[in-house]
Amino acid sequence: MDSVSSQNIKEEKKFAIGVDLGGTKIGISLVSSHGEIREHIKTPTNAQQGKDIVIRKIKHSIHQIISHSEIGIENISGIGIGVPGQLDPRIGIVHFAPNLPGWKEVPLCRMIEEEFQVPVVLENDANAAAWGEKSFGIAQGVKDMICLTLGTGIGGGLIFDSKIYHGNNFAAGEIGHIMVNKNGPLCNCGNFGCLEAYSSASGIKNRISRRVKELKIDDQNIFYQKDLNKISLAKIFELARQGNPMVKDIVDEAIEYLGVGIASLVNLLNPEMVVLVGGLTNEGDTLLNQVKDIVFHRALKSNLVNLKIVFGKLKDYAGVTGAAALLWQSD
Ligand SMILES: [Zn+2]
Repeated sequence: MDSVSSQNIKEEKKFAIGVDLGGTKIGISLVSSHGEIREHIKTPTNAQQGKDIVIRKIKHSIHQIISHSEIGIENISGIGIGVPGQLDPRIGIVHFAPNLPGWKEVPLCRMIEEEFQVPVVLENDANAAAWGEKSFGIAQGVKDMICLTLGTGIGGGLIFDSKIYHGNNFAAGEIGHIMVNKNGPLCNCGNFGCLEAYSSASGIKNRISRRVKELKIDDQNIFYQKDLNKISLAKIFELARQGNPMVKDIVDEAIEYLGVGIASLVNLLNPEMVVLVGGLTNEGDTLLNQVKDIVFHRALKSNLVNLKIVFGKLKDYAGVTGAAALLWQSD
């Protein structure tokens, strides 16, 4: 197919379906080529019920989206799926997804293609979020960017020369597992001192939990009274602001290491923009300014010229719009 007729097809089909498959919920949207969300469904993943049920749920939700909208499947470029795990987008197989039990070597593209008879593409979820911000969010027009997803864990998406950088084995962008302290706390990956062990929600909570035990803090303490998983990150940051010394210490270190990690990435990659997305960004400008101060204090001056460090614009929709926009990537 020559580039002119390929372009015509892209122009004719102005819609795609984006799927953001998460460990706890699945988001599915019908997205226009301008990034407008026409239909959206959010449903619990219920990952523990196994992959067959999860895949059935994805198919069912896509059927629902199509039947609710006036856009027929014939006007849809295809389906893009962001998956939280290791995958090979060339062959459409999910190798492994740590938060989705039973997902090993799943030919997800073929399974969805057989159902809908349209092209299906896969991408790592953090790459999809980065691509969403690049296509329709804060990073439109930016060629070189790093996106950090700051949630339960920390993920990363790298975009260079307006293309997602995958690395040799499609495993690039594991920003959560860059090591910021060789003697640091144990990380979910089995290593010590990873950025995720300091600056993710799970890292912050694990450190508080360990500190409470070490200090034998009395049973009036909030962290004894409640399951730590039920305490929100917002509450933890509020306690830090109120001056709870133990919490403030851990939160300050979380921000410090986040800044240090980003400064190293800025020195290595010299991006135009660093985009932060995910739950931690709910802490607002105070957090952003603290991170910026650390990066601008620590990174090389040459790498800071014109650097922007910003929060994403698309919030919960970065993943679905980015997954849909995968269908409109230029080669
Ligand atoms: Zn790690």
